[in-house]
Amino acid sequence: VAIGECGLDYFYTHSPREAQIDLLKFQIELALEHDLPLSFHVREAFDDFWPIFESYRGADLRGVLHSYTDNLANLEKAVKHGLYFGVNGIATFVKDEQSRVTYRTIPQHLLLLETDAPFLTPVPFRGKVCESKHARVTAEFLAGLREQPLEDIAATTTANARALFKV
Ligand SMILES: [Zn+2]
Repeated sequence: VAIGECGLDYFYTHSPREAQIDLLKFQIELALEHDLPLSFHVREAFDDFWPIFESYRGADLRGVLHSYTDNLANLEKAVKHGLYFGVNGIATFVKDEQSRVTYRTIPQHLLLLETDAPFLTPVPFRGKVCESKHARVTAEFLAGLREQPLEDIAATTTANARALFKV
């Protein structure tokens, strides 16, 4: 249903940046060829990511910034491009103000829940293997933070996932 996750990770840099960039372009083109959305992983690399993404302007590029934890400037840019935001258990244990503002600001129509299983298990299940059922814990956390009913978060994230992945 999607290509990815793919993208740029300059935190770990398991591969040289040039190789990551080449592969990202290849995967974007693969997604366009097959009319599929992309699941993007972008860590400490938005300065390189945006020029690549924007070079495909005009193409029907759609996708999600999975495990989004970045700042409001990149959030605004992603909103302009209609990208979705994947939120997982990180939201429940990152306590800095910027992250809380980010999680409050993500527009409802672009909000997705994810697990990142088997990693990033939400509080209070840290240390356990993350499973699909834990998405509910993240949803409950977001409902509290965004002061919205859990049912709204559940309904819209389900609808958003169906729309993006056509499932
Ligand atoms: Zn990732």
